[in-house]
Amino acid sequence: MLKEAADLIKKSKYAIAFTGAGISVESGIPPFRGENGIWNKYEEKLFDIVYFNSHKKEAWDMLCDGFYENAVKAKPNVAHFLLAELEKNGNLKSIITQNIDNLHTKAGNKTVYEVHGNIANLLCQTDGSKYSIADFDLKSAPLCRECGAILKPDFVFFGEQLPEYDLNKSIEDCHKCDLLIIIGSTGIVYPAASMPNLAKENGAKIIEVNPQESVYSNTIADIYIKMGAVDFAENIKKFLD
Ligand SMILES: [Zn+2]
Repeated sequence: MLKEAADLIKKSKYAIAFTGAGISVESGIPPFRGENGIWNKYEEKLFDIVYFNSHKKEAWDMLCDGFYENAVKAKPNVAHFLLAELEKNGNLKSIITQNIDNLHTKAGNKTVYEVHGNIANLLCQTDGSKYSIADFDLKSAPLCRECGAILKPDFVFFGEQLPEYDLNKSIEDCHKCDLLIIIGSTGIVYPAASMPNLAKENGAKIIEVNPQESVYSNTIADIYIKMGAVDFAENIKKFLD
């Protein structure tokens, strides 16, 4: 099956990847859901836009307490690097990711559509200024250097719209692609989760890599590889050369 998948990747004209939490677990990024998930450590309201906007100081006190630390330290793993390599070789046109961990960019991918935003940036909701988290010590709520407002992490909170540009480009690529590789997304979080279905409807082949079966496995996946992301990346390499 790995060989079959590798052949599909090599002969495709417009392959894209669709990634979720599963690709980053082995980089030490906890998923939001599940046993060691972020939801067990932080209250869900912390990521609710209505709560955030009315309790910015308190919200930042919680966010400063360890939330960013992990994310800043995290490094891409071989699965991220495989996708960077595929893009460099011209075998992959883009990545649509549900992750906010910035690891695809850290791995070297250039065309990454982040439909849930990115933890590496901060946004002023008053004047639209954007900052890198690297410019702040994040020991207390970071303030906009233009207007002094408390900044918001530039990832999508509950109750917020998905970023329009990334969403539109993702949909566009789901129409264009002839192959979509799902890695580590179990297809729970809508509307992003419907991207692979959109690609399938437009005639693309679907490869799915997930250690557990997902909503995609018995429905739209042409090839389902029951493996973790890192295992997959390590084992498919020899077939790609
Ligand atoms: Zn501002």
